[in-house]
Amino acid sequence: MGQKIILLGEDDMEVSEMYKIAFEKGGFRVIQAFNGEEVIKKAKEEAIDIILLDINMPKKDGFDVLKDIAKDETLYITLKNVPILMLSNYSNPQDIEFCMKNGAQDFIIKAEWDPDSIIKRIKRHLKME
Ligand SMILES: [Mg+2]
Repeated sequence: MGQKIILLGEDDMEVSEMYKIAFEKGGFRVIQAFNGEEVIKKAKEEAIDIILLDINMPKKDGFDVLKDIAKDETLYITLKNVPILMLSNYSNPQDIEFCMKNGAQDFIIKAEWDPDSIIKRIKRHLKME
């Protein structure tokens, strides 16, 4: 099995770098996107295996990214088997419910999860363990 590719949509550069280093140590390739538009663009360009998606981001937020994917038939089909894991500090039940009903497979509250736990969650979604 080749190296799995994570598309990491996170606008905070330091946070993004922190996760990137941790995920690379965990054996993944990481493609960074720093706003919602970049997430959409890179999801179209690269053969990614999983998306980690922040909500609060410039240009398009994580909610808009989910809506855009649902509206774009080609992209929707491309990402049919690509799990989307929200990675956010938004934690109110309505936000979580919105994401889970609109294409996300999981919702990770950033503050509660260390990178190693997130890797475990990623591997579970990719059926790697
Ligand atoms: Mg953010």
